[in-house]
Amino acid sequence: MIKAFKYRLYPNAHQARELEIMLETHRRLYNECLAQRKERFETAQESVKYTQQSAWFKSARGANDWYALLNFSSAQATMRRLDKAFQAFFRRIKAGGKPGYPRFKARGRFDSWTYPAHGDGAWLLNGKLRLQHLGVVKVRQHRPVEGTVKTVQLKNEAGKWFVVASCDVGAAPPPRASETAVGIDVGLEYFLSTDQGEHVDNPRYQKEALRQLRVAGRAVSRKKKGSRNRRKAVARLRAVHAHVANKRRDHHKVARDLVSRYAFIAAESLTVRNIVRNRRLSRSISDAGWRQFLNILRAKAKSAGSVLVEVPPQGTSQACSGCGAMVRKALSVRMHQCLECGLILQRDVNAASNILARGPARMEPVQLNVAQ
Ligand SMILES: [Zn+2]
Repeated sequence: MIKAFKYRLYPNAHQARELEIMLETHRRLYNECLAQRKERFETAQESVKYTQQSAWFKSARGANDWYALLNFSSAQATMRRLDKAFQAFFRRIKAGGKPGYPRFKARGRFDSWTYPAHGDGAWLLNGKLRLQHLGVVKVRQHRPVEGTVKTVQLKNEAGKWFVVASCDVGAAPPPRASETAVGIDVGLEYFLSTDQGEHVDNPRYQKEALRQLRVAGRAVSRKKKGSRNRRKAVARLRAVHAHVANKRRDHHKVARDLVSRYAFIAAESLTVRNIVRNRRLSRSISDAGWRQFLNILRAKAKSAGSVLVEVPPQGTSQACSGCGAMVRKALSVRMHQCLECGLILQRDVNAASNILARGPARMEPVQLNVAQ
């Protein structure tokens, strides 16, 4: 099982500049390889293979000083990343889907590169990261890695640098006996509710984040397109988004609590929902929060041996969990009251019960995922 550990990097001014140059060089490599593939595809309907580009790069770095400064394996990883995008593109064509052609990465849309083998170009040890062509960068390693480091990724999020170490932590524990099960529903009144009638409040940061995002978003829309001030405002908006995404401590606590008590968890999956007009921003934040929470819950469930299944929420808030009758209610109606069987429950608790009931039917595809 692979587990990722993410730490903040503290490069000095010189190192920060060098890191930015490396990121930019990886981006240009990505785009140049994409241009090669695009041209070949448009002129000859042929695809360029990864091995061909890797061979091309070997000779290109002899003539290009920027490319020469990239660790070779990490450059290969960037070309493989493009190759993956193309394989997905051809798969979509084959499946008859709408094939979005892989896109050029604009500045700011390309935020990471990877060292595919620990020790080749990047070495993480005791609060320090040694990088080829750069030297030793300070790392705030707030907890040690587990298992063996396999790959190392460098990442820039809103101006801050991070290192992500993907570690092999051995086999996943077998699923626990499923005598304990819970259904959970995401809502507006509470962050989540369980079928047992428990509620978890919305994270405190959401309200404040909403205000900051509004301010930063308005600042962007006021600035002239293409102007330096607009670029600044966009950077500020990104920083606020990243700030919101970083406040996950509550999520970890709630997820830990759930997997410690339940072997089987059915949770509302994230789908594109009807967006209430003036609630758009709050909705998008609560969706982002739920997405983060599900990611954390998924990882924690896996390492604890709990089974997590994600259930599409369609109809779960309207159906009666007692008798299955449809009880139509607007969003503002907080109670579920069934005239057929007399059941009265808080609406999210009723929905959570429905989610739990639908869970087992969705177990198989999820278990396949676990086996991969
Ligand atoms: Zn009923």
